Amino acid sequence: MRFFFPDSQDFVDDTFDFDSETRSDTRVRQRDDRYPHEIFSKPPYDGMLVSKAVVDGIGGGSGKYSVAQRQRFLRVGVREYFRLENRQVATMGDCGAFTYVKEERPPYSPSQVADFYEDCGFDYGLSVDHVILSYRADLDTRLDGLNLVPEDWRSRQDLTLELAEQFLEYCGRKQYRFIPIGVAQGWSPASYAHAVAELQRIGYKYIAFGGFVPLKTNDILACLKLASAVRSPTTEFHLLGITRCENVEAFSGFGVVSFDSTSPLRKAFKDDKNNYYTPKGAYTALRVPQIDANPELLRKITAGKVKQEIARDLEQCCLRILTKFDRGEASIEEAVETLCAYEEVFSGETDHAEVYRRVLADKPWKDCSCEICKRIGIHVMIFRGAERNRRRGFHNIYVFNRQLRAHLGRVSCQS
Ligand SMILES: [Zn+2]
Repeated sequence: MRFFFPDSQDFVDDTFDFDSETRSDTRVRQRDDRYPHEIFSKPPYDGMLVSKAVVDGIGGGSGKYSVAQRQRFLRVGVREYFRLENRQVATMGDCGAFTYVKEERPPYSPSQVADFYEDCGFDYGLSVDHVILSYRADLDTRLDGLNLVPEDWRSRQDLTLELAEQFLEYCGRKQYRFIPIGVAQGWSPASYAHAVAELQRIGYKYIAFGGFVPLKTNDILACLKLASAVRSPTTEFHLLGITRCENVEAFSGFGVVSFDSTSPLRKAFKDDKNNYYTPKGAYTALRVPQIDANPELLRKITAGKVKQEIARDLEQCCLRILTKFDRGEASIEEAVETLCAYEEVFSGETDHAEVYRRVLADKPWKDCSCEICKRIGIHVMIFRGAERNRRRGFHNIYVFNRQLRAHLGRVSCQS
C-alpha cells in the first residue's frame, strides 16, 4: 500500500528561530524552505500528488503558486521542482477536480492534461474527471432507484468516462511514458462498479476512485466490495483523498494499492483535539495564538474588552514558561495556569486545563524519534503560527507512515 502526499505548498522555513520568531532576511520561499521529504532522513511517504489546478492557480484556496513558481515548475519539471532527484518518491499528477466542481465542464482537455504530465515528467497521471458531490447507496436497492438518479450525476459520470477514453487514446498515440490512471466517479456502490467496468473496457489497468472525501469508511468499503467483484486480476486501485486514515489497511484486500491523504497534516491545526499523533493515540496541542493573527482577540482589543499589553504579556509568558518547562525549570501546574490565564483572555474559556495537564505530564515529544521533535522539542506541541503547526503536521505524517508500515507488515505476516 503506497501513501501519496498531496502538495499544497506545505513546507517550512529552515531559518525560522523559535525563540525570537524571526527568519533570515535572505530567505526565498520554496527555494530555501523544506518539504517533509527533506526534513526526515527517509521520505515519510511513497509519493507526492500534484494538481494541475493548484499549479495553474485555478480556484484560489491554499497552496497557490506564484507566477514565478509556476513558470519554474513548468520549466524544470516535477522532480527538480520538489527536489526529488535522489529520493525514492513517486510523482502522480491530477487535475484538481474539486477546484472546478461547480463548473459545468472541466476547464481542461485530455490532451492539455496529458501534455502537462509528460512535459513535467510525472510517473503517473490521472484522467480528467468531474466530481459527483453526492452519495446515495439506497438508489442501488430501491425499485425506482434508477429513475431517481439526477441527470447531473449521470452526465458527470458519462463525461468522466468519455474524457478518460480520449485521454488514454491520446497518451497511446503520443507514446507518453507516464502511467495513465482512469478516474471512477459515482454516487453509489453499483455506479462506481459500473465506472470501473467501463474504465477496464477502455483499457485502464490502474483506476482511482474520486469523490470519496466525504464518505464514511463503511460506504467506501461497500463501493470497493462491489467494484472488486468486477475488477480484473491485473487492475489496481487508488483512493483519492482519504480522510479517515486509520482504516486504510481494511481497503488493501480489495485491490487498493495506493491512496492519498492530507489528513495527518491537517489534523495538526484543523482538529479541535487530535493535533499530535503518537503510536498510542493523539494529543491536543497547547494553544498560544499570535495576537496579531487572531481576529477574535484583535476585535476584543479594538472594542476595549481586552488590554493589548495584558494579552501581550500573557502570550509571551506562555512561550517562556513552556520553554522553561521543557528544560525542567517549571512545573506542570505553573505552565497550565499560565496557558489557562491566556486562554481566558483570547477565547473567554478555560476548558483545556485537564488536557494540557495530560500533555505536559506525558511529554510525548520527548519519546518521538522524528527529526522535528528531536530538534525543536516542545515547540512542536504549541499551536501557533504555520512554522510550528506545519512541523507538527509533518511529525504526524511521519508517525502515520510508520504506523501504516507496521500495520501492513503485521497484515502480510498473518496472511
Ligand atoms: Zn516527532
